[in-house]
Amino acid sequence: MQRELIDGVPVLWAETPGPLEATLVFGCGVRDETFRTLGVTHLVEHLAMSTLPRLHFDHNASVDLALTQFTCTGRPEQVADFLERVCSALCALPLERIEREAGVLEAEGSGVADPTTAELLSIRYGTAGVGLASFGGPGPDRIPVEAVQDTVARFFHAQNAALVLTGAPPAGLRLPLPAGERPARATGQPVRQAGPAWQQAQVPGPGLALSCDLNDQAVFLAVQLLRQRLTEAVRHREGLTYDVGGDVVFVAPGRGERTICMEAREGQEQRVTELLWQEALRLATEEAPEAELAEEVEAAREVLLDPRAVEYELMEAAAELVLGDAPMRGRARLDLIEKLTPARLREAFAAALGSALLVVPCDIEVRPRRADGTELPQFSCGQGGELPTVGESSARP
Ligand SMILES: [Zn+2]
Repeated sequence: MQRELIDGVPVLWAETPGPLEATLVFGCGVRDETFRTLGVTHLVEHLAMSTLPRLHFDHNASVDLALTQFTCTGRPEQVADFLERVCSALCALPLERIEREAGVLEAEGSGVADPTTAELLSIRYGTAGVGLASFGGPGPDRIPVEAVQDTVARFFHAQNAALVLTGAPPAGLRLPLPAGERPARATGQPVRQAGPAWQQAQVPGPGLALSCDLNDQAVFLAVQLLRQRLTEAVRHREGLTYDVGGDVVFVAPGRGERTICMEAREGQEQRVTELLWQEALRLATEEAPEAELAEEVEAAREVLLDPRAVEYELMEAAAELVLGDAPMRGRARLDLIEKLTPARLREAFAAALGSALLVVPCDIEVRPRRADGTELPQFSCGQGGELPTVGESSARP
């Protein structure tokens, strides 16, 4: 991986086959917004893209929980032109187009995370930071122009950007972004107690979130193994669902959430939920057989040593630069993974399960228990004080 600085922006690149691909990354996403300004980053992205003329090569932009990305693929001079235009647009956004672009956002609709993961994050973190994932906020047409200006000033500058290229930087490439200060980021404190708990919510199927150090390779492999066991059970053995999904969510340097999300065939939500929790408990209490662990290590080796992983690694490094995180990569990760034992895996997963948050669809009856047989506490809202005495009751609080 090569690294250089262009106009104050770190540029990470590696020579790969195929046309030149560029991704300009900013450390700004939904987690940096507030409930009041939800969607403002997406609006900034749309305003910048709306200034581009018709271009005859692949280009796009996106916003997720932590990052905004502008991407394109083309000949070196096309890539250079795109990047310079995007940077220039961010310096002088066409604020007169806010109303129109807000309408486009409304029509586009968007989810920044899998719906079950979004729900888990919101239960854990409330209406701030990554917890904003499941909310829509007041709506794109209510975003104040000051919020757009403030977001651009705080986040869209050279000190909060990185460029990834799949080849050498094009000759004469300029990235005319203003200088700025590294933004202070919220540390993402959970609003709930850490202990394992469950809650009902409007989700398509059950989900599990574990708070952990994202660099802990034992938790990584344990979650992979759990997904494999669940796939085996719900798909191949019982035919209840097609996919066992999940996410990795950065919360603060060294800390994040690993989630497992399952969809269930109509009427099978209860069985799928029971299996999810049962398999999680089994992994925390019984050591996995050596052969099963070896299978997961082999799967990880295939992914981590795949030459096509170069682009992924460049992107990870760019995210690391802008977010101040330090994810481990390729060979270093594999070295740790290859040393894992069944005992270490069980221990790490049991510790992570101490932070477990289980979300289940509203209409099912479950009573999840801990390994020792005691009931898992259920989160519920509205445990606050007395209702005001004035006014009429029209519904259950
Ligand atoms: Zn969009």
